[in-house]
Amino acid sequence: MTPTENSPENMNNQTSPDTQARPHPSDFTPHPPVDLPRIQAAVREILLAVGEDPDREGLLNTPDRVARMYAELFAGLRQDPRQHTQKAFHENYDEIVLLKDIPFYSICEHHLLPFVGHAHVGYLPRGQVIGVSKLARIVSAFARRPQMQERLTTQIAEFLMAEMNARGVAVVLQATHTCMTIRGAQRPGAAMVTSAMLGIFRKDARSRAEVLSLLKS
Ligand code: ZN
Repeated sequence: MTPTENSPENMNNQTSPDTQARPHPSDFTPHPPVDLPRIQAAVREILLAVGEDPDREGLLNTPDRVARMYAELFAGLRQDPRQHTQKAFHENYDEIVLLKDIPFYSICEHHLLPFVGHAHVGYLPRGQVIGVSKLARIVSAFARRPQMQERLTTQIAEFLMAEMNARGVAVVLQATHTCMTIRGAQRPGAAMVTSAMLGIFRKDARSRAEVLSLLKS
């Protein structure tokens, strides 16, 4: 921050953190390209730190493999999800559109371990729809980032609500977190379920019941 920005007359114009508007759900700024050599060096450090020999045969190519793996797992940091809503078409369809059991793979940002599961995404259109495969691509774009399941759920729902101008959006995610199953609490099979209901699905109990029954059927 430059001194001018910090001057007393400008201080009053600054928004306090509480009142600062959240970024628009479809705002997207691509992150810089993945720095593969930097990941390689870091992985080598981890191997040394756990007492391994990074130069033994089996580990020689591991830093490179892990670097390319992270580039793939975090590809969503450089993919604008709006590319999947650009081909929305006008259609006077006013019933729920629902795609169930979309497999997704994400990385828990607290442990950098995968959480894996299924997403169910539904929306009530307001004059425009997108190809159903796009819903799966939107889930994937948000999943391939360092994530929390709760935030992933909200991001998908708010993005669709904003981009599709939908009357309502319902997103349910069900996932197994390896940070819970292979370490820590070690609860194999435990699934975490999160949901986000927006628009009519939040406001209207009958619409919510309808989408929930479709999700369960
Ligand atoms: Zn975790």
